[in-house]
Formats: sequence, C-alpha cells, structure tokens
Amino acid sequence: MELPESLLSIPHRRDVPFARLTTLGLGGVCKWLFEPGTEEEARLFVKTCRVNDLNYRILGGGSNLLVLSDISVPVMRLNMPVELRLTAKGVSANASYSHTALINNVADMGFSGIEWAYGIPGSFGGALRMNAGANGGEWAQTLDQIRFLTPFGEIVEKVPEHGDFTYRSSFLADGHIALSASIKLVKRDRESVKKTMNKFQTKRRQSQPVGRSAGCVFKNPPDKKAGQLIESVGLKGTRIGDAKVSPIHANFLLNLGNATPLDFWELIQLVRSKVYEIHKCELELEVEVWDENIADRPLR
Ligand SMILES: Cc1cc2nc3c(=O)[nH]c(=O)nc-3n(C[C@H](O)[C@H](O)[C@H](O)COP(=O)(O)OP(=O)(O)OC[C@H]3O[C@@H](n4cnc5c(N)ncnc54)[C@H](O)[C@@H]3O)c2cc1C
Repeated sequence: MELPESLLSIPHRRDVPFARLTTLGLGGVCKWLFEPGTEEEARLFVKTCRVNDLNYRILGGGSNLLVLSDISVPVMRLNMPVELRLTAKGVSANASYSHTALINNVADMGFSGIEWAYGIPGSFGGALRMNAGANGGEWAQTLDQIRFLTPFGEIVEKVPEHGDFTYRSSFLADGHIALSASIKLVKRDRESVKKTMNKFQTKRRQSQPVGRSAGCVFKNPPDKKAGQLIESVGLKGTRIGDAKVSPIHANFLLNLGNATPLDFWELIQLVRSKVYEIHKCELELEVEVWDENIADRPLR
C-alpha cells in the first residue's frame, strides 16, 4: 500500500509482528505502525488519513486484542512522553501511560481512588476506551475530564456525561482517540493505598491464570458470569492446538506458546456454541478481533 508523504513524516515502523504488540503473543503482521510522539503528530495522522480516505486502527498496549490476519491499513499507537500533572482534583495523565505505572505512580504521590485498577495491563488510553474495570470500580467513576482527538482531527476536552461510558465500552468507540484525562483522587497515606493495591493483586493472582492471554474473552451477560457459564458446560481445560480454556478461570483463553490465530478463533467458536447449546445464551466478545480477511469483529 502506497501512503502519502505527509504520513511518512510521522515516526513509523514496517512489518512488526502482532505477536510483539499484543499480550496474547500471536497474530499477523502490522504492515505500518505509526508512533506519534506528540499530539500534533497524532492529529496529522488522523487528518491525513481522513483527507486521503484511508482507514486506520488504534493500538494501545494490545492487552484486549486478538489479531487474526496481517493488518495492512495504518495502525497508530501513541508514543508521547509519559507525564503526570497535578490538577485541582487529582492528577492528569496522557494516554500513552502504562496502566500499571499510572496506578503505581499515583499511589507513590499519596493519592487514593484508583487502587481497584491495579493489575489491569495495557495503556491508560486503552483503559479509557474500554472503560476497564475491576473490584467494583471502573474508569467512568473516576474521571474528571477527558481530552481526545475526533475522527476529523479536532482536539476536544470534555467532562464525561451520563451515557459516555458503559460496561466495557465508551464514546471513544465512535472513532475518537483518547489523548489524556484527569482523574479525581483524594489524598491518603501511601502505605494504606499500597496495602489496598496489594490486596487486589493477591485476589487477582488467586483467581486468574498466569501466561499469555487477553484477559476475559467474553463480556458477562446481564446477571451472569461468562466464566461460570463456560465452566458449567465442561470446557475448562479444553484445548485446540496451543489455545486452551484456562482451568483456573474459564473466561481466560490462553496461548500456551505456539497457538495460531485460527486455533484461538476455533476455541472461541467452540465456547460460544457450547454455551448457546446448553444455556441459550449468546456470549458477546469483550476482546476486540482484528481481521482483514473476513468481516471484522464478526461477533459484535
Ligand atoms: C491478564 C489480563 C488481565 C486483564 N484484566 C482486566 C480487568 O480486570 N478488567 C478489564 O476491564 N480488563 C482487563 N483486561 C483487558 C485489558 O487489559 C483492558 O481492556 C485494557 O484496558 C486494554 O488496554 P490496551 O491499552 O491494552 O488496549 P488495546 O488492547 O491495545 O486496545 C483495546 C481497544 O482500545 C482502543 N484504544 C487503544 N488506545 C486507545 C486510545 N488512546 N484512544 C482510543 N482508543 C484506544 C483500541 O483501538 C481497541 O479498540 C485484562 C487483560 C489481561 C491480559
């Protein structure tokens, strides 16, 4: 694919395997990976793609992604120098921030309010897009303001409104790119904040498998737990090639090392069809699927 000169002025790499860009450690090749180091470069990326009628995709830490094919359209992953700024209500962080580093650094500053998020991998931007949540918390509850890039290349700042964030989704899904956000926090002594974080980390270690995964593959249906549904149909430990339903938490599908995208996809289909057959419940994907060969995100 030929790309416009102005796009090529943005830092980029060619032919990067998605195995290196995602926590699942598998997938095709990212033909064009753009890594803008400033908001202006990110804006140039979006505007140039728009003017030239080019589709593109946004990548964060790759911890909620299953890539089934090569991706030939430009992929953008923000690479801005990470920055935490004090605000009137807490701190502001940019979207490139590693989610784990953000939680740790906020605790080190003696702030409390986002301990619940400790242990969720990926980037802050991805967590905002997904409205990541755990331990009774989710990003929607904690945000003061969000700064984002629209699909037209405009930079907008807004206070989140009712309906902007839903269970594992947000208004960003409509083609907006999170640039930074400010977080509402309260002052608290560092030791007690760390203690709460460690409690959540221990709980995670006891209930979730280690190894290559994308976290929970399916959303919880209303009033149900996807993991329990999968367990109840006897699929814990089921394996296709090197893709396996975790024996510890059935909503985690693992790459044991050499799983192919197809192994993974077939295991997802098997889980869905078995749960539907027995419970008449259609599991919806939480993991996002990228595939240029067949219709994208076929289960959404
Ligand atoms: C071991 C493990 C445990 C997990 N536990 C949890 C958990 O407890 N709770 C939970 O909610 N999730 C969990 N996850 C899933 C995942 O970590 C979260 O969804 C995470 O927030 C995704 O962030 P990311 O940067 O990796 O996004 P990616 O996987 O890179 O992308 C996910 C989506 O976000 C979009 N995106 C990325 N960056 C931006 C941006 N700057 N602006 C707009 N859109 C963007 C992408 O286009 C894509 O649509 C877990 C995953 C793993 C591997």
